[in-house]
Amino acid sequence: MADFELPGRYRDLREEALAVAAAVGPFAVEADESSDLHRPTLEALRASGLCDLMVPAAYGGRFERVDPLAVCVVREVFMKASAHLDALFALQGIGGYAVSRAGTPSQCRRWLPKVAAAEALAALALTEPEAGSDLKSITTVLRPGEGGGLVLEGRKSFISNAPVADFFTALVREPAPAGAPGDVYSLVLVPAAAAGVTVSPSPEIIAPHVLGEVRFDGVPLGAEHRLGPPGSGFRHTLATLSVFRATVAGAAVGLMQGALEIAAAHTAERRQFGRPLVRLGPVAALLADSWAEVEAGRLLAYRAAEAARDDPAGSLDYSSLAKLAATEAACRVVDRCVQVMGRWGLVRGSRIEQYYRQARPMRIYEGASEVLRLGIAARLCRDIVGPAEAASPEAAR
Ligand SMILES: Cc1cc2nc3c(=O)[nH]c(=O)nc-3n(C[C@H](O)[C@H](O)[C@H](O)COP(=O)(O)OP(=O)(O)OC[C@H]3O[C@@H](n4cnc5c(N)ncnc54)[C@H](O)[C@@H]3O)c2cc1C
Repeated sequence: MADFELPGRYRDLREEALAVAAAVGPFAVEADESSDLHRPTLEALRASGLCDLMVPAAYGGRFERVDPLAVCVVREVFMKASAHLDALFALQGIGGYAVSRAGTPSQCRRWLPKVAAAEALAALALTEPEAGSDLKSITTVLRPGEGGGLVLEGRKSFISNAPVADFFTALVREPAPAGAPGDVYSLVLVPAAAAGVTVSPSPEIIAPHVLGEVRFDGVPLGAEHRLGPPGSGFRHTLATLSVFRATVAGAAVGLMQGALEIAAAHTAERRQFGRPLVRLGPVAALLADSWAEVEAGRLLAYRAAEAARDDPAGSLDYSSLAKLAATEAACRVVDRCVQVMGRWGLVRGSRIEQYYRQARPMRIYEGASEVLRLGIAARLCRDIVGPAEAASPEAAR
């Protein structure tokens, strides 16, 4: 397939990613059934050096700034090869991005080179037992501690990488500064080794994922653990989501592509009614519609990632649009692929069956589709009739 308009440095990156995909190939099915860290997959990722895409050059990164299009291209290849590989790679950026944006120079020096080398594993802790899409209802609190320090109290839930993370970028609430009324939202960097941090397993989900429930029980933190000033938590969180939602779209494209290749090969080889399945009209239609969705999803993912590179804060809605379109398409495509493979699409532990399960959570994490639609529709109306229209729940933050 032609690399429509993709400049050379991204094509080179794709080649690098393909080499990692080949290296994890022999154990990808096993890794993708593991909800514990799969060490050989981590070793392959480390050896590739590709996590240097997740931090700025000043702290050991490959490019001057994190380039969402580069991450998107790599995730497309990784997700096709192994969801476990893709998650390990993505989380270095998802957990580390706010540190690059808002960490103190000493925090950046301490953590980011290790993130780039995949020697410190990162996590982003937003969700709580009672707060999912409605992040303004979080109850994890930051309060003043002794000697100008801070104390963290609360619980986070379904946090990717939690059992193996070296640090958490955590969204918290705290009283507004200088006696102003109400609370504000802030981000803090919490080392996993800090006193009072404990992690327990989350429920197993249909597509195994390294997940954990995190407790912060009176965790003492120095003021330098703040990521930005009090009240800047949603600004940095939304910038993170703007960059990484576009790359979820890339991962969804990789998954669709992988599923479609398996289904196409099957329908070309298997014969029923005296001809290959692909020559039976309804089967051909399912494949053709799927290919169209893969191609459209890829272009939108690349376009959104490029926009997020140039203006992360301003392109959240476009990233949401790409994530919505590609993850919804991934579920349709993989469902069609299972259908055209008949009983062979249902074999437990086969690659196509893994893709079928792996597609499903993508419509829920990093912004569930329904919530994304609210923001996208509000943006559409704002662009057409002006800012008086209702704001999205996320834009209101
Ligand atoms: C595999 C996986 C990995 C995850 N990793 C992380 C992680 O690393 N860090 C982290 O912080 N979280 C993580 N999460 C949690 C994830 O971000 C939440 O599941 C997600 O935000 C949705 O929240 P919820 O599950 O509580 O659903 P809810 O918010 O309870 O939503 C339930 C349903 O209601 C809909 N809904 C909610 N609000 C509205 C609305 N206003 N209008 C219309 N419909 C609405 C939703 O779209 C959804 O369909 C992960 C989840 C999964 C499955």
